[in-house]
Amino acid sequence: MERGRYGEFATLLAQRRIELEAALAAGDRRVEAIRSARSDTPADDEHDPEGSTLSGEWSAAIGLRDAAGQELAQIALAEARLDGGTYGVCEICGSEIPLERLRARPAAARCVRCASP
Ligand SMILES: [Zn+2]
Repeated sequence: MERGRYGEFATLLAQRRIELEAALAAGDRRVEAIRSARSDTPADDEHDPEGSTLSGEWSAAIGLRDAAGQELAQIALAEARLDGGTYGVCEICGSEIPLERLRARPAAARCVRCASP
């Protein structure tokens, strides 16, 4: 299937999506594991060092999972732009996003100038 000059990015986006879906699933499992470890510890154990380690791990796991979820959403938008023929066009200024930038960040919706105020 010919998708023009952005054909390679359909593959890149699909690969990235697979990685992110795995990361998201791993994040979910991690969050669930910490949730069940927490429910095993008594509620009045707030100053237990293990308890605070768990909340640190909890924040880190939530952060990683949410980051994967957000990037997945960006991938979905990029795939929609690819289908709609607007992929590679800056959503702010309308100029073409350089291919080197897209290769580094296939989900980029803005050129470097518009992405960094
Ligand atoms: Zn721009």
